[in-house]
Amino acid sequence: MVAGWDRMTPQERRRYTGLFVDWMQREIPGCRVAFKDDPPETIVWWHRVSHFFARLVSPDYDKRFTTVIYPVIYLPVGTRESWSAQPERFYGTLRHEFVHLKDFQRFGVWMGASYLALLPAFWTMRAFWELRGYAQNMIFLRESAGSVPDEQIDRLVEIFGGRDYIFMMSPRSRARRALEALRARVLSGELSGPYPYGPLDHAPPEVEDAAP
Ligand SMILES: [Zn+2]
Repeated sequence: MVAGWDRMTPQERRRYTGLFVDWMQREIPGCRVAFKDDPPETIVWWHRVSHFFARLVSPDYDKRFTTVIYPVIYLPVGTRESWSAQPERFYGTLRHEFVHLKDFQRFGVWMGASYLALLPAFWTMRAFWELRGYAQNMIFLRESAGSVPDEQIDRLVEIFGGRDYIFMMSPRSRARRALEALRARVLSGELSGPYPYGPLDHAPPEVEDAAP
């Protein structure tokens, strides 16, 4: 759908990102991009409670991670200006987070509970949802650069097998096998588009829609 990202001008990428956000909002009613340091009165109470507990678990929660709490995407503290000046820099992130939103829309409480539970039995389930999210990072690389370099796999092995997500896929050798298998499915074209796991209600925007 956005094959050719690398050939688009910054203005075209910016327009396309705007169209993508509009499309997400049609697909996920109530979806919006917000920030973790938004004024509390603009954040619904149960999102504030979720942020509170997440901050206890992860000291990096505010500054490093983008978080989805249905149907809102919360970008990290300190990103407000770059989002308004260069939203296209967040396009890959939006692709990832959209999958979480769509999964939550489809699987609801089951997805939420299995994602959040910190019991060892659920780590694998969490990794299952994150593999769907990070597949989008790979699909986006394939769409833009035509490949998914080894360095990306190395980076993702750390994310899946390290402490960022509480060792959700451990040991690292297991994470590497899963990620390499995922890369093969992306490069073969078996997985493509913004949501390869089920039907979408609206067609995503085309690259041409962002042309001047
Ligand atoms: Zn994710």
